[in-house]
Amino acid sequence: MTVKETARRFPQSTIGRAYRVAEQAHAGQKRLSGDPYFTHPLAIAEILSSWHLDEASIAAGLLHDVVEDTKITREELLKEFGPEVMFLVDGVTKLSRVKYRGTEAQVENLRKMILALSQDLRVLFVKLADRMHNMRTLKALPPQKQKRIALETDEIYAPLAHRLGMQSIAGELHDLAFPFLYPKEDRWLKSTAAAHYESRLGYLKRIAPQIEETLNRHGITPLSVDFRAKRYASLYQKLKRYDMNIERIYDLVALRIIVSDVTTCYAALGAIHQTWRPLPGRIKDYIAMPKPNGYRSLHTTIIGPEQKFVEIQIRTKEMHEENENGIAAHWLYEQRKSGGVIPKSPKQLTEEVKWVQQLRRWQEKYQGGNVDSGEFLESMKIDFLKDRIFAITPHGDIIILPAGATPVDFAYHIHSEIGDTCVGAKVNDRFVPLSYELQSGEMVEILTQKNKKPSQDWLKFVRTGIARDHIKAAAKAKRHALADKRAPIRTELKVIIEDRPGLSKNIAVVIARSHMNIVSRELVVTGKQTPPIERLVIGTNDKTKIEKLIGKIKKLPGVRDAGYELLPSE
Ligand code: MN
Repeated sequence: MTVKETARRFPQSTIGRAYRVAEQAHAGQKRLSGDPYFTHPLAIAEILSSWHLDEASIAAGLLHDVVEDTKITREELLKEFGPEVMFLVDGVTKLSRVKYRGTEAQVENLRKMILALSQDLRVLFVKLADRMHNMRTLKALPPQKQKRIALETDEIYAPLAHRLGMQSIAGELHDLAFPFLYPKEDRWLKSTAAAHYESRLGYLKRIAPQIEETLNRHGITPLSVDFRAKRYASLYQKLKRYDMNIERIYDLVALRIIVSDVTTCYAALGAIHQTWRPLPGRIKDYIAMPKPNGYRSLHTTIIGPEQKFVEIQIRTKEMHEENENGIAAHWLYEQRKSGGVIPKSPKQLTEEVKWVQQLRRWQEKYQGGNVDSGEFLESMKIDFLKDRIFAITPHGDIIILPAGATPVDFAYHIHSEIGDTCVGAKVNDRFVPLSYELQSGEMVEILTQKNKKPSQDWLKFVRTGIARDHIKAAAKAKRHALADKRAPIRTELKVIIEDRPGLSKNIAVVIARSHMNIVSRELVVTGKQTPPIERLVIGTNDKTKIEKLIGKIKKLPGVRDAGYELLPSE
């Protein structure tokens, strides 16, 4: 049943309600393609449903853009759908804030962050479905955006799906990105490869009955025999290693045999090898030795009828499903085992998270070579999952900080000057105190003011050495400045006034009578609605004297307010 049908038949179910809320919230909104906006969340929900994910994930797919792009608030959503769906929507929103701009250093951080944020794997599934649909409709976007999103898909999301064993999703994402990243190669490939695909497929269809007959003769009845065409993007990668000679790609189209159990896999391989000579060095036992991402299958290339090479893949149904859908398939099995219908709470998903970590450990071992993986993972877990948070700049860059870090730490990590002149902070567009404890996935914007100096109070809450050092250094500089007698000693007065004849002169007279001299003065007018401000620099730093002077100035008719600031020495 499609999500649409489910929503119509069960209007009071979570999916039914999510469907209605999203449809109404996005009413009138259009995508760049001209389609009604709701087609997008609905397509995502259908994708998630085709992956057999649970109600909460499908609801989150329907609602994933509602908080960011419509009038509906987080609070309303939470009230209507509860914490589980809210948790998933929040997770997807966080992931969407990160933007990959193709810098080498960003890649690993981004993948780590995505894994860390996806404590609940369903967040990642919704995000992958979102990306899948955005890629399928990428044509509607301006070229600049197409490139960026295709690159992000190709270098971040597809490898992540691959790492989690989701072959078919990874493959489709790579294929969808390919024409946008390599338009010329894509045209060449499609014109060249099409005929080859055609003739290979024709050949395999001719010989498939012979293969099946051979199996039958050995008492094996395969569940299915079909054909797997190599994907364009991966064909291109392979062609580069084979002098772009398509004749040398034996697995352009492969024969795929599904049997009932592992023993039969080996029996089938034996039967085939008895009939057709295998090509040396091409027999791969990924059942005994799975690939790092969990892929399992037997592969062999035989010299088939008409003396042509044929790649044959043999596997069980379960292996096939796991090869295609990886961790999503695993997630589904676990859920079925635990009784099925009840959606798991985020905490109950720790098993899956362990699985991710295991995958990651394999990955590290294979790529890093000699690292003690146990110890390495331990340090990685502490560093990256427990004691670290990932905060995001408004440009989508990731700043990695220790847990408990504040906007001030964040500011100093971007640039010491931003830290020094920081006066306020916004987290996800809301003002927060500078002592606010940042959480992973939050977007942080720092407000600065020129000539501002760091406050010593910040030392009470900052968490990073870099912030602490700068704050202390600034305090030291200030003390030196005050102690330095040769430094110019000045105070700036700010007097908010009414436009009143003679007032400026009266202020000057009061200052002169207090035996102080005016170094410079200017009248600042910012707009018709705001009163003008007199700024006067006075040649003293005697606080008591200045405060007395301010008192006198405030009493002058036409003065609305007055204040002062000791100027730092240059
Ligand atoms: Mn979306």
